[in-house]
Amino acid sequence: ARRVVVAGAGMAGVQTAVALREQGFTGTVTLIGAEPHQPYDRPPLSKAVLLGKAEDSAFDVDFEALGIELRLGCAALGVRPGAHVLDTEAGPVPYDVLVLATGAEPIRLPGAEGVPGVHRLRTLDDAERLRPVLARRNAVVVVGAGWIGAEFATAAREAGCAVTVVEAADRPLAGALPAEVAAPMAAWYADAGAELRTRARVERVEPGTVVLDDGTRLPADAVVVGIGARPATAWLAGSGVTLGEHGEVAADAHLRTSVPDVYAVGDCASFPSGRYGERLMIHHWDNALQGPRTVAANIVGAATGEAPAVYDPVPYFWSEQFGRFVQYAGHHASADTTVWRGDADGPAWTVCWLRNGRLVALLAVGRPRDLTQGGRLIEAGAVMDPRLLADPARPLKAA
Ligand code: FAD
Repeated sequence: ARRVVVAGAGMAGVQTAVALREQGFTGTVTLIGAEPHQPYDRPPLSKAVLLGKAEDSAFDVDFEALGIELRLGCAALGVRPGAHVLDTEAGPVPYDVLVLATGAEPIRLPGAEGVPGVHRLRTLDDAERLRPVLARRNAVVVVGAGWIGAEFATAAREAGCAVTVVEAADRPLAGALPAEVAAPMAAWYADAGAELRTRARVERVEPGTVVLDDGTRLPADAVVVGIGARPATAWLAGSGVTLGEHGEVAADAHLRTSVPDVYAVGDCASFPSGRYGERLMIHHWDNALQGPRTVAANIVGAATGEAPAVYDPVPYFWSEQFGRFVQYAGHHASADTTVWRGDADGPAWTVCWLRNGRLVALLAVGRPRDLTQGGRLIEAGAVMDPRLLADPARPLKAA
């Protein structure tokens, strides 16, 4: 391949371009992004950037020195795989290899779109609109007690806002964690002075008020909707690129799509995990760092006839919420057995998931060493002794 074109200039797109150069690719690399800003990192948006502790979070990458051509403020509109052309707002762009890295976008709350004072938190523009809300210590209602909702609530409390979090499920993070693990997290909201209302549904949003389906009216100078994200793939309709059940690009184990010479990586894609025996769609930062290295290796390797690399990581992510550092490695299913290390009411604890005696996942709160040691054991598929595992004073070790 002489011309690689990357659609989407977020973490996954930028890392793909950088990894291509690191791995010795000498052809042209063109990175096309819809947002007008210099490519930036998202995790700081719900943390330092929101609180005004950091101006922005632009990636520290010298695109010019790396010979990466940036085309910003230019959305991709479609792919014509037969012609090897990416159509964009600025016209057609021919490619030899195309990488889809358009990420994800927030799910909209019906009845809230367009109401003044309703925000989401995905982009730098979103964070910049929310900064003054925090600076003015406005009363905010957060819809959704997921990762973004928890992190926004944390920052808003730190800024001195009155914060109410409305969650339809009976607990925070209901989509990600089982009840026994998420239950202790509910107390974190109250500890931080935020009100968490579970089993509460938003009926509608009026300017200045969130109305719940039981008639409760919550005053809100601002409303932040954090009810999940979905892959930004609508622009691929009619292209022939196969999408999966969540509308994501369904890639294969080498991160290739269903059409020739087109790869997909990051939040917009899913891949079959041999390790976990299911297709994974991961909306976390580390996946947008690791996946691009496989994509770049396969683009570079295709020219030399090398066997393509398989992408089968142990997923990892972190969250900073309510003064706690939460880290997760691996992937669990509801049938897996949990083993606790430490007291869930205390400041630091870990929960481990075992499948047939092997460690498959772990969530550590304020126990980074468990995460590091556990990550390696998950990678190795180590068999654990549940009794030893349950002793938080013992380092994590294989049986
Ligand atoms: P994105 O970052 O979404 O980038 C995709 C880019 O493509 C965007 O810039 C978008 O504008 C552009 N694009 C979309 N459509 C088109 C188009 N048609 N044409 C051209 N360009 C297009 N993960 C963690 O593990 N830990 C954290 O603490 C954490 N904090 C987060 C905090 C926030 C506020 C957010 C929003 C996310 C956070 N994440 C965190 C998740 C992590 O940031 C994402 O997993 C990561 O950004 C995914 O990278 P990506 O490049 O696949 O997608």
